[in-house]
Amino acid sequence: ANRLVTPEKRMDDLESSIRPLALSEFTGQRAARANLQVFIDAAKTRGDALDHVLFVGPPGLGKTTLAQIVARELGVNFRSTSGPVIAKAGDLAAQLTNLEERDVLFIDEIHRLNPAVEEILYPAMEDYQLDLIIGEGPAARSVKIELPKFTLVGATTRAGLLTTPLRDRFGIPIRLEFYTVDELELIVKRGARVLGLGMTDEGANEVAKRSRGTPRIAGRLLRRVRDFAIVDGAAEVTRAIADRALRLLDVDPVGLDIMDRKYLTLVANSFGGGPVGIETIAAALSEPRDAIEEIIEPYLIQKGFIQRTPRGRILTPHAFRHLGLPEPNRDPA
Ligand code: ADP
Repeated sequence: ANRLVTPEKRMDDLESSIRPLALSEFTGQRAARANLQVFIDAAKTRGDALDHVLFVGPPGLGKTTLAQIVARELGVNFRSTSGPVIAKAGDLAAQLTNLEERDVLFIDEIHRLNPAVEEILYPAMEDYQLDLIIGEGPAARSVKIELPKFTLVGATTRAGLLTTPLRDRFGIPIRLEFYTVDELELIVKRGARVLGLGMTDEGANEVAKRSRGTPRIAGRLLRRVRDFAIVDGAAEVTRAIADRALRLLDVDPVGLDIMDRKYLTLVANSFGGGPVGIETIAAALSEPRDAIEEIIEPYLIQKGFIQRTPRGRILTPHAFRHLGLPEPNRDPA
């Protein structure tokens, strides 16, 4: 779906210009930053490779950015790939043998590695060794290749999607949370400065409130608001300008977009507020179940609009109020 507030990457993001480069420039995720700082300092003091790191959290919260920062702070090379891109064991082997001592290898969407590739990763992570089978049939033989000590940084939207043996090999699992409005406001102001855009505190607050807890969306809305300000010939983005721009873009006052509202309206109107199963919702919205669970629902849950229960999804009274619909009489669960 081509949603403006989709947290997934899009081609027009031009994200690099406002990407923070050091842990100290990175806003929010206080617990994650504190943890990383300790482990990075310890690894540097020992002159050793950092233990393998797994970032878990919805798209657009800064997993890739933090992986790059980790490499930078360690003073090592950053190499990047992603689960679906590594088709064969040999592709991963090539990546691994090209690493230098203590380098960071980032694998985005690591839950989408194919099993044959994952097998290669276990001894590489554990013993810094590649076990390769060369040739086929009776002529096949296995060779061991020593690898430099490296740090694997994995990113995934949900830890539950990883196989247990893979998950267990990450010494430093780090969960990223949605950002508060205050944190997003700081990110928006910093972004505005980088873009050379005048922005009042209220303007930044309005963009922050509607960014779905997600820096990637904040950056994207910021650029759209800038376009409106330029067309208007406004010297700075006020709350009124931000509000008008975001309304025209169909982002509602709490950051919900058309897809979010379609989800909520569906459960409210067609299923009496639930409980309704995820498969039924996926079919009715014509969206893959994974996308709904990883992208749409986490924010709706965090905002208190829906609850996941064993019997299915339930709309909260808060959601009915937000939609301006009367709450149905439901049997107590
Ligand atoms: P993920 O890998 O989790 O999908 P990214 O690391 O690609 O997310 O971040 C998405 C965008 O949001 C990037 O443009 C990045 O610069 C920005 N971003 C993420 N976290 C922060 C932050 N804490 N402060 C400022 N910008 C951020």
